Amino acid sequence: MAEKTLFEKIIEGQIPADIVYKDDVVTAFKDIAPKAPIHILIVTNKPIPSIAQCEDCDEAAMGHLFIVAKKIAKELNINEDGYRLIVNVGRHGGQEVPHLHMHLLGGTQLGALGFTN
Ligand code: 5GP
Repeated sequence: MAEKTLFEKIIEGQIPADIVYKDDVVTAFKDIAPKAPIHILIVTNKPIPSIAQCEDCDEAAMGHLFIVAKKIAKELNINEDGYRLIVNVGRHGGQEVPHLHMHLLGGTQLGALGFTN
């Protein structure tokens, strides 16, 4: 059996995290190293490694990530000022944890997206 990802261990409660939302499809918790005043990770309960590995049958879960992000943003009162949703994919995308997740960033004016050489 494949070794559990860090996020599976958080979902299953083996590693502590500040969980803000959980249902049958996704779990959301505060990022341990926040890059903005609000930085939440919304993770699929199913351990899909990344968007590059998701399948047609995961389509509803992908949509659910956005719906849950919207609900959390509203709950945290950042829906009117706005926020950013990011999904890093693979090495060039800067993905560190190989378990599909969406970053919800907000609570301040965010900088421009870009790249570094
Ligand atoms: P990625 O670079 O894969 O898109 O994002 C992974 C995120 O997971 C990073 O923002 C990082 O700070 C966060 N992270 C890494 N380890 C932990 C942890 O043990 N707990 C929590 N809550 N977040 C983590």
